[in-house]
Amino acid sequence: MPGERDIYAVLDSADSEQPVSAPADRNAAWRLKVAHTFHCSTALGGCGTELTFAIGDVNIPHFRHRSGVTCALGVSGSVADRYTHLAIQNALRDWINAMPGFTCGLEVSVKEGRTDVLATGPNFEAALEVQRSQLSGTARSERTSRYLTRAATVDWLFESTGIDAFKTELAVRGWSLRIWWGWVKQECRIGVSYHAGEDTEPELKAAGGPLEQWRLTAGGLDSEHLRKAKYAVAGRQEALRHRREDEAAAAAEEASDKRRRDAAARRGALDADLALYRQYEEQLRTFSADVDSRWPAKWPALSGSPKQVLWAAGLRVKILGFLHEELANDWLDAERGYPIAQWLAEQESAKYWIEHLRDVRDTFDLLHEYGHR
Ligand SMILES: [Zn+2]
Repeated sequence: MPGERDIYAVLDSADSEQPVSAPADRNAAWRLKVAHTFHCSTALGGCGTELTFAIGDVNIPHFRHRSGVTCALGVSGSVADRYTHLAIQNALRDWINAMPGFTCGLEVSVKEGRTDVLATGPNFEAALEVQRSQLSGTARSERTSRYLTRAATVDWLFESTGIDAFKTELAVRGWSLRIWWGWVKQECRIGVSYHAGEDTEPELKAAGGPLEQWRLTAGGLDSEHLRKAKYAVAGRQEALRHRREDEAAAAAEEASDKRRRDAAARRGALDADLALYRQYEEQLRTFSADVDSRWPAKWPALSGSPKQVLWAAGLRVKILGFLHEELANDWLDAERGYPIAQWLAEQESAKYWIEHLRDVRDTFDLLHEYGHR
């Protein structure tokens, strides 16, 4: 059975730039065979010997090295890749040379490298890179910078969607170019893969056509296909931008509502605290009515944090409540009771009330605490 290498050759001479793939159709193969000689390409690293074009009844048409010939081509790398790359370069060159005012160079040296295809137009140069092997997005950027020292534009034409640089372009820019070569029709096509739709997850679309549907401009490759793709990408980016703005506005509105709700809740809590404090003060004033003048006429405003003051004011009104009741009913000896009331009237610190008097539940506790002061 013929291996991969055996269906490719160049026409008529070893240094020919015309690659050919053996047609599977026997009639087509015979038409090719009578018109040409077939060689292993020296430009692609082959031995250059003339190949036999075998068109038998059993095997599909294929090329064969003559017996005894040793050939390095195919030992490393893919023979199909090399012949296909050559066919694509030729197709691009023929296409560019046919454009009025344009000439094409292949493998043209630029700063620290070579471009695959350099098109020289009336007043600009454009580089086209045909990429079949794996290439990182970083390497693509570095090479693009180098080619841009000479060319006005660099377009990468990927032969496979599995190449990282293709994926990077698609992710970053929203579109990336593809290239195909069809041996049977001898046709080269350029296409564009692009991200469309308005969902977070993009919809991958593709459009393209033969080289005749594309042209070179000062801005690089151009076609109806590419313009349609760029329009879709711009629409998608605009939609995503609007969505991000809407989301940010909704989040800001929500945050503002929450601040308003929190502020209202704080004001509500403060109002409730204030009402309670006023209630304590009111109760405090009622105590002086039915005891004698030794009961302190004035109760100081308590000092401390709002929370401490409210707590201490509650303790004070509770303690003075039962002290007042004992004195008013003469259950407690006035000589013992009024000095305690005087002492309590000197305590302005909310912290003092909380620390020393929070556990006082009755007159007994109070006398005990007073004795230890
Ligand atoms: Zn060879």
